[in-house]
This record gives sequence, structure tokens and C-alpha cells, in this order.
Amino acid sequence: MERNWAGNLTYSATEFVRPASIAEIQRVVADNPRVRALGSRHSFNDVADTAGVAVSPEALPPDVVVEGSTVTVSAGTRYGVLAAVLEERGLALANLASLPHISVGGAVATGTHGSGVRNGCLSTSVAAVELVGADGTLRRTSRGDQEFAGSVVALGALGVVVRVTLDVRTTFAVRQDVYPDVPWAPVLADLDAVLACGYSVSLFTTWTGPLQVWVKSTDTTPPADVYGASPSPVPLHMIAGESVEAVTEQGGVPGPWLDRLPHFRMGHKPSSGEELQTEYLVPRDRAVEALTRVRAMGERVAPLLHVTEIRTIAADELWLSGAHGRDAVAVHFTWHLDPAGVFAVLPDIEAALLPLGARPHWGKCFTATARDLAPLYPRWTDFAELRREHDPSDKFGNAYLDRVLG
Ligand SMILES: Cc1cc2nc3c(=O)[nH]c(=O)nc-3n(C[C@H](O)[C@H](O)[C@H](O)COP(=O)(O)OP(=O)(O)OC[C@H]3O[C@@H](n4cnc5c(N)ncnc54)[C@H](O)[C@@H]3O)c2cc1C
Repeated sequence: MERNWAGNLTYSATEFVRPASIAEIQRVVADNPRVRALGSRHSFNDVADTAGVAVSPEALPPDVVVEGSTVTVSAGTRYGVLAAVLEERGLALANLASLPHISVGGAVATGTHGSGVRNGCLSTSVAAVELVGADGTLRRTSRGDQEFAGSVVALGALGVVVRVTLDVRTTFAVRQDVYPDVPWAPVLADLDAVLACGYSVSLFTTWTGPLQVWVKSTDTTPPADVYGASPSPVPLHMIAGESVEAVTEQGGVPGPWLDRLPHFRMGHKPSSGEELQTEYLVPRDRAVEALTRVRAMGERVAPLLHVTEIRTIAADELWLSGAHGRDAVAVHFTWHLDPAGVFAVLPDIEAALLPLGARPHWGKCFTATARDLAPLYPRWTDFAELRREHDPSDKFGNAYLDRVLG
């Protein structure tokens, strides 16, 4: 029995294959009526599941190729592995998620993001994808092509991505400062200012207590204090009781981007491990309303919660991105591993947030279905057409896509 990282899902695939060549992936896709790409299994729902063959590109050689200001790599490569190769060559990616353990192909397929008012989700760094389509042929689409904006955050629905080309820049240093016990009132009074006080800013809370503000700075000096709260002299984990061994270096010590942008170190357990996750991306101009609404549910949410994280994502053009067409604030919940409790509260959180335009993270727990989601994505029907064109027999379909895309 093969499971996802959190262990809350046993995949129903009849077979798991890890081909060592692109030609072999092409053969598997061509020969089977139901196929789905599987990444590093860090999603918390059945997005990656299939009733047929699960194909992972993780055994393809990483084959890292730097050309000008881009790098091309196998889709199964983990961000942490790619980052180390880039750093050796004096290069960097613009941003990373909270953990470096996830595969590039899986992360960009779900619109995975880090934080930063000027940073788009990780999928916005994609310059091209090469994928195996339903008939087994290899197709490449790059930025500027008509269908490119529908082909990056594609939930595995258009085929198995085998190579991804990403924008790179010159390596850069980041320092990380953590401010505990920040009061809510001044933060809500000037949320934009707090969220913009560094290159990447995250606010952590359990809703019933104060905020912990993590500021990752590049060329700016971090604030001396955040509304009276000074930076912590000792490292902190955002989840009470978890080991600080797992978090990347804090305390204002500058270091390479790959060792500061993720919250967690590659060789260590990210987050709590015993958990589920949920996240909603709300339009930035509705963020104060969204946070006020969830805060009003704080007493109900807190017993189920390890911690909430609040981040920013810059607007993009990718059709199924949570930040499509508008700057977003992401309201994230790291829950205890209590599916019954979590799924009992999610409809109420969604009733509060979806009317504000909130879009759920595709790889985390949510209850909204196609009927709720379609009005939130201006390019929804364009994506449905793209699916029909590239996968007429629904080879890459699964129960998740039936429920969520319709
Ligand atoms: C501890 C933890 C921390 C997290 N932190 C963050 C965070 O900071 N920010 C954030 O946004 N998310 C975060 N996530 C969620 C995670 O980034 C997403 O769920 C992401 O999709 C995981 O990538 P994966 O490789 O594990 O994909 P999987 O879960 O294996 O698959 C996800 C989807 O991608 C598709 N896919 C995978 N590989 C390919 C491919 N080669 N071709 C086509 N489609 C493919 C699958 O078919 C499926 O639809 C976190 C998850 C965990 C467990």
C-alpha cells in the first residue's frame, strides 16, 4: 500500500512505475487507459491519485542544463537538490516554498508558493514544460505560446511533465529574523505594511494568541521591532514544542538563499509530520476581512490547529493559479491529523472565505467543488477546452478532477 507524505491517503493506483527514461514514460502512457503523474506525494488530498497507473518521473536522471538565464531539469527533481546545484554555479531561484523536499513537477502543477509581495507562486518561474501527452508523444510549450498559461498549473490533467525549464538569477544572500508576540490590532490596521516589510514575510498564529512574524530580507534592513516586538535572540519553530533543529537559520545571520527562503532544512522533518493542511488564497484587498472572519471562529479552529501561516503571492496570468489576475494573501492551516474534525470545520471556513473570492490550494484539504470554484477562475472554460483537446479519452482523469473541475 502506497501512501502520501501525511499518511492520510492510500493511493488506489493499480501499479506504480518509476521509469528511468523519458521513452519508457511515453510507452507507459501510450499503453494504458488510465495514467497519472505522481510527484513527491506531499499533497494532502487525492489530486495525484488514479484508478490506473501512477507514473513518477523521480528515477529520471536530473540532467540539469543551464542555458542563459534558465535551467532545465527533470520534473521529479526535488527543489532542494536543484537549489544545491544552482548555488554551486552561482545561481538561484527567485523563491522557494516552506520546504525544499517537494518535486518541481508536483509543486508547479498545483501553484505551490512561498511568500513575498513581489514574488509570484513557484509556477511563475516556469519558462517551459515538456510533457508526455495522452497518445504518448512528447510536447513542449513555452512562455508566449497560446496554451502555455493553461499548461503549468495543470494538476496533472494534461499529461506527465518530464522536463521543466525555470528562470534563474544570480545567487543572493538572505537573512531571517523572527519576531514573537506581535499584537493583532496594529497588524490588521496596516496589514499591507507588515506583509511588505521584507523580501518574504510570513505571519504565524493560532488565532487565539498573538502573531509570530518571520521576515526574510535580501537588500533591505529588517525592522528593529514589529509593533513593539523585538527579534528573537534564539531560534524559534512556528509550532510550539517542535525541535528548532528542523528550521533554517534565524537570528539575522545572512546566508545563501537556499538555506533561508524555506522554513525547513532539507535533511530534517518539515512542519509537524502528524498533520493535514488547508489553504485559501484571498484577494489581497479583501485580506483584512478574511482574517477578521477566521479570527471570529478562533475558539473553534484553535483546538484542531498546530498553526496558521499568512503569506503573500503576487498576481500572475496562469489560468488555474490561486493568484490569477490579482495579488493574493494566503491563509494557511496546519491541522492536527484529525480528518473528521478538520472536514467538519472546513465548510464553515469556506462559507466565510469563498464569497470574498478565496481559492483553495489545489494540493491541500478543502470541500469546495466545481460549482463553487468555476466562478472564481476567469479562464475556467478555457482550461476545460484545453483538457478536452489534449486528453479526449480522459486518460489523466481521476475522482478529484471529476469533483473539483467537473
Ligand atoms: C510539510 C509540507 C509543507 C508544504 N508547504 C507548502 C508551501 O510552503 N507552499 C505551498 O504552496 N504548498 C506547500 N505544500 C503543499 C505542496 O507543495 C503541494 O501539495 C505540491 O503539489 C506537492 O508536490 P509533490 O511533488 O509532492 O506533488 P504530488 O502531491 O505528488 O502531486 C500533486 C499534483 O501534481 C501532479 N504532478 C506531480 N508530478 C507531475 C508531473 N511530473 N507532471 C504532471 N503533473 C504532476 C500530480 O498529478 C498531482 O495532480 C506543503 C506540503 C507539505 C507536506
